[in-house]
Amino acid sequence: MIFDLHSHTYFSDGALSPEALVERAKARGVSVLAITDHDTIAGVGLAHKAAVKAGIELIAGIEFSSQWGKGGVHIVGLGVDPDSPGLQAAIKFQELAREARSQAIGERLSRAGFPGALAGAQALAGEGTLGRPHFAQYLVSIGAVKNINAAFKKYLGTGKPADVKYQWPLMDEVIGWIHSAGGVAVLAHPAKYELTRMKMCALVDSFAAAGGDAVEVISGLQPMSLTQDLINIVNARSLYASCGSDFHVPDQTWQELGSFGVLPDNVKPVWNLLGF
Ligand code: MN
Ligand code: MN
Ligand code: MN
Repeated sequence: MIFDLHSHTYFSDGALSPEALVERAKARGVSVLAITDHDTIAGVGLAHKAAVKAGIELIAGIEFSSQWGKGGVHIVGLGVDPDSPGLQAAIKFQELAREARSQAIGERLSRAGFPGALAGAQALAGEGTLGRPHFAQYLVSIGAVKNINAAFKKYLGTGKPADVKYQWPLMDEVIGWIHSAGGVAVLAHPAKYELTRMKMCALVDSFAAAGGDAVEVISGLQPMSLTQDLINIVNARSLYASCGSDFHVPDQTWQELGSFGVLPDNVKPVWNLLGF
């Protein structure tokens, strides 16, 4: 049985509709899929209908941005109640924060000679939540930079003209939102924040102290040695373990639905907290 507990649709920065995501998961042998768009549950209803049709289990999820020290970390909520007032207020809060940040980025880019940046990025975001990747895409689309990387290097990255600092809510607050909606809080992809191992352990400790439940020990294709290391870190703290592809778009083979290592037997799987 394959549990893929981290995936995105075009309601955030994924490419597929919820329906297409569910169909792709089914075709890839996934039995239990969590949809975890960034700071939104807008795709959950449609995904749920599609999952019933496809005969797979759907877990309502969300991936919240949170602050840890100077950087952002991601906390996934699994099994959240979409109708929870606390969750809905949290989503609204994040939405307003993102909007304010996008406005500020748009103004900075305008001053840097791209007056159409905000409208252009909004058009590219479509159904999705407007974010920095859309500004990057816009700059590429008008030929201001060669590619997304260059857009961050020249304009959007740290210390560049359109770098707008934003403090995300702290982990205990985000974990509280997830718990208030009846969900399980999972620290997403701890190896992807470019931390030293010591810092990564400190992050997991802070997460556990803030009331977190599980850590994603597998995020897409990754070396076995990393999986083993994360399992040791998680087990030493009696946390649960989660796994998922972090699927966004079909051509990124290292983040394909259902395509990742099997969670070993010596962990407490997070789905035990979700009724499986
Ligand atoms: Mn993403
Ligand atoms: Mn993430
Ligand atoms: Mn993600």
